[in-house]
Amino acid sequence: LNSENLYITSFIEQNLGLPAGILDEFSIPDNLAHRIISSVRGDEQEEVENPTVERMLNFFMRDIGAYAMSEYGFFAFKERWPNGADYAVALTHDVDNIDRPLSHILKIRKRFRFYDIILHILHLRSLYRNLDYTAKVESKYGLKSTFFVMASNYDLKEIAKDVGKLKELGWEFALHGGEGTHESKEKMMKEIDTFASKLGFRPIGVREHFLKFDFEKTWKILEDCHLSYDSSIGTRDKLGFRIGLCTPFHPPDSSWNMMRITEVPLVLMDTTLWGYMKRNEDEGMNDFMRLKDAVHSVNGLFTILWHTESLRMKGGRIYPKILENLKRDNSYINNVSTILNFWERRNMAKLKIERRKLRLEGAFIGLTLRLETLDKKISGIKGGYIEENDGYRRVFPTSEVLEVSFE
Ligand SMILES: [Zn+2]
Repeated sequence: LNSENLYITSFIEQNLGLPAGILDEFSIPDNLAHRIISSVRGDEQEEVENPTVERMLNFFMRDIGAYAMSEYGFFAFKERWPNGADYAVALTHDVDNIDRPLSHILKIRKRFRFYDIILHILHLRSLYRNLDYTAKVESKYGLKSTFFVMASNYDLKEIAKDVGKLKELGWEFALHGGEGTHESKEKMMKEIDTFASKLGFRPIGVREHFLKFDFEKTWKILEDCHLSYDSSIGTRDKLGFRIGLCTPFHPPDSSWNMMRITEVPLVLMDTTLWGYMKRNEDEGMNDFMRLKDAVHSVNGLFTILWHTESLRMKGGRIYPKILENLKRDNSYINNVSTILNFWERRNMAKLKIERRKLRLEGAFIGLTLRLETLDKKISGIKGGYIEENDGYRRVFPTSEVLEVSFE
């Protein structure tokens, strides 16, 4: 029971970016603790379109804020995304195929533009080998993404050149785990070795093909294989938040120790819209907007999976419209490993609040603090600067140690 409590405390501290130790002075509401437990153990949430666990966490934050205000006269926490963005987006692609026989293409020809099929037949364009094309679309918006490529479905040597070039430019390549890897360490190891020998580097993350996942086995297998993250927990046949969460978290092992590996919950998969729910493009765009608003409202991470092979297909071809829409917001958009790098450094940075002082150790450019004060006056700041906003202040560190003192 004790390690379960410790796990929940750390989970909340990381999720909300709280000052160290503040939860010791607090009792965590039972219903919140139970929901976190059921979530990380894999119970599918009832209101799946609603990130309910995130909502409960944000709600709990108000209680903590009220407590800190009365105790210290101010409250501060580490904001979730670089420079205080309203929400973050992880762009990802599963590369299930890099080629299909012409007979298959002709069978599903209605999904493509006639013009594209002609170019494909003339070998002037490949409808399936879309790494370059995807990157080109993203470049137009100044964006980068993560490609999950398969070690078991095609020869990675065939795309090694493209991979090398795009990796150099800031795209990430991770493993799209094949048949059985979610329940077998041997199979996972073998695929990682194949990936490494064909591409020349080891993947740091995984997404399982068909989002296959076993809550009792998969995290352990990935951690034993020295992977840093997974992004397989999502819904396939409906829209929403499989376990009510949309921020990265460290899952527990079977005795409630916090694991090293990070889970990045998947929020939207393109094939859910077109394949499972038979949406047309306008409806799909509306579904995307609804999910985006839900993530935005909890300051979460919107992890999007868009299959590379759908980019030139009916439905999938709205991808540029989606990027354009995301860019219009105050959002932070990047590939998974860059976002997790920020997230981990944020976890490591230590925020301490005392009666007349706050101190942030391990601060770095991009990490910001939200600071709320009543009538308490700031008497000094070292290692950073403060921006005044309506109703709150944002603190930007400029060195590794930041200190704000109050009168
Ligand atoms: Zn797949």
